[in-house]
Amino acid sequence: MTTALFWFRNDLRLYDNPALAKAIEENDQVLPIYILDDRYLKEDRWGFVRTAAFRLQFLLESLNDLKAYLREKGSDLLILRGIPEQILPQLAEAYQAKAIYASKEYTYEELKIEAALSAKVEVRFSHGATLYHPDDLSFAIQQLPDVFTQFRKRAEKYAAVRPLVATPDQIKSPDFSPKPVPTILELGFEPPVMDKRQVLPFKGGAMAAEARLEHYFWETDAVASYKETRNGLVGADYSTKFSPWLANGCISPRTIFHEVDAYEAEVKANSSTYWVKFELIWRDYFKFVAMKFGRNIFLKGGIQDKKVGSWQNMKVFEKWASGNTGDDFVDANMRELRETGFMSNRGRQNVASYLVHKMNLDWRMGAAWFESLLIDYDVTSNYGNWMYTAGVGNDPRDRVFNTQKQAGMYDGDGRYRNLWLRGKMNE
Ligand code: FAD
Repeated sequence: MTTALFWFRNDLRLYDNPALAKAIEENDQVLPIYILDDRYLKEDRWGFVRTAAFRLQFLLESLNDLKAYLREKGSDLLILRGIPEQILPQLAEAYQAKAIYASKEYTYEELKIEAALSAKVEVRFSHGATLYHPDDLSFAIQQLPDVFTQFRKRAEKYAAVRPLVATPDQIKSPDFSPKPVPTILELGFEPPVMDKRQVLPFKGGAMAAEARLEHYFWETDAVASYKETRNGLVGADYSTKFSPWLANGCISPRTIFHEVDAYEAEVKANSSTYWVKFELIWRDYFKFVAMKFGRNIFLKGGIQDKKVGSWQNMKVFEKWASGNTGDDFVDANMRELRETGFMSNRGRQNVASYLVHKMNLDWRMGAAWFESLLIDYDVTSNYGNWMYTAGVGNDPRDRVFNTQKQAGMYDGDGRYRNLWLRGKMNE
């Protein structure tokens, strides 16, 4: 009888979870575990709580959903709080586990945790976070092109997106005493108050992710006009809103990709349906950039090691973070973020450009603020996009946005700014 531990990380799903499938295939019993890592609940160097209430709430909902799915399969979820590389070896010993299985992560802190854990116990990692499996690329990660288009063309031409991995029929586990998922209050946080102006009443978990997929593709056909609407600012369907579920791994990028294929085969294929795939390739790209450049994605000079003359002024920063810069487009976006934990891609590009190029602040302050608040915070997408805007990432050009011109183009009638600056719902 072999027992393994399965350590859930940013892969809170049973469907298309290669690491979980492998654990089940190679063992008689699997104990599913999630560890609320104390380090991510603390303040960062700027004093921002790393996982503030919106993001934490979404995570806890995702864990409850995962737990319910595991129970359907005859198992449950063991939730603990602490430091994974300390807790997991103790559990492995207590359950005489042969190995620990987990999905691979790609960034500095996570890799340090993986190394510390692997030094104590056998850990078997699988790749499950990307669209293209790293082994399927036609080049080694160190040869990753520094220009996105070159990467995309090579990936599309030479790598296929792998088929989905089935949900396990049943999960046999050793005896253990599962406890309920803690509430946000129990973790010492005030539950976030949902603002009725939010784009969508986001709910964490694979079930809600599936419902969103169903809605966006099959119920509304919104996917067929994605390319025309994706720069929108108000409402649920101007873009897919898949990002929070992707960030927590409630859905895999491959699931979305294959759903696009199914939609294209059954309904229609156009530039909009393709563009959803295109954006998922951007997401992949930033993961591969992180694999190639390691810790540099968190440094001020970015992957270019560029000299940057920005400053770190908390007073100026607070104007930006609280939505009081005096630029109405920036302020509206920053208030949406503060009140809901979400902001459109158009908004993110503008507020990031404003912080970097107008306020001349260290881009990492903005990235850390996003990390704290965004329900879809994804370390590689966040730091990759921030570096890009700051001109220290994959595009060496300074991407300066004229925020007032942008407001005119994307919020010509002022509806978005009215909503967030004056609370007007029906204009
Ligand atoms: P859609 O437009 O519907 O796109 C579909 C999916 O494609 C998204 O869910 C996402 O997974 C991917 N995608 C789209 N645009 C990008 C992009 N520019 N980079 C990487 N992937 C992309 N995205 C995150 O998921 N987490 C972050 O922490 C994050 N931080 C960002 C910070 C800045 C400064 C900027 C400019 C962008 C950031 N993005 C981040 C990318 C993008 O803004 C969001 O993915 C998108 O707004 C999420 O909404 P959606 O799911 O409706 O996107």
